Amino acid sequence: MVKDAFSHVRAWVFDLDNTLYPPEIRLFDQIERLMTAYVSETLGVSHAEADHLRGHYWKTYGTTLAGLMAEHDLDPDPYLVAVHDIDMTVLPPDPALAAAISALGGRKIVYTNGSAPYAERVIAARGLSGVFDAVYGVEHAGYRPKPEEDAFQRVFATDGINPREGAMFEDDPRNLAAPHAMGMRTVHVASARAEEPHVEFHAGDLSAFLSQLG
Ligand SMILES: [Mg+2]
Repeated sequence: MVKDAFSHVRAWVFDLDNTLYPPEIRLFDQIERLMTAYVSETLGVSHAEADHLRGHYWKTYGTTLAGLMAEHDLDPDPYLVAVHDIDMTVLPPDPALAAAISALGGRKIVYTNGSAPYAERVIAARGLSGVFDAVYGVEHAGYRPKPEEDAFQRVFATDGINPREGAMFEDDPRNLAAPHAMGMRTVHVASARAEEPHVEFHAGDLSAFLSQLG
């Protein structure tokens, strides 16, 4: 049973974007546009070139921010404020998800490649305030992004999480490789299952998946 595979879990770690809200809401599209605009303005390139560079940064460094820092020594804080200045009204509250996460025994945290203040706004809009014990952003990992193992280790050490008693929920299968290597249960949250060895479980509906574990 799925429940048995999670019976040892004492720490539940959730990604934020496209994990704690469905990708169909397309909230992240707003951030994508702001990131492209920021790259375009900062480097003085066209939007098309900025999009191309973002693809290169994502593949090579994990995120746009990590690429800008590696190749252009960018100051991360103004960037994080600028790209997260978005409209949250498109996000509906999700009482079923709040109930399903609250019912889990143990510690519950959010860990995002975005910033923690942004994550708190998303959490509030989803009606998930008070559900999590802690919220971590890229600033808590020394601005190193998931999928780097060092980034996970830094956040988990800060929180006091033992990965062998943890479970990671993520929409980007790349970001499940390091957690799997560290001994965590891994759950891919998406409509289509990723067939990769480090993806142990698949959740098409996060609330429904979590409801099996209580
Ligand atoms: Mg995500």
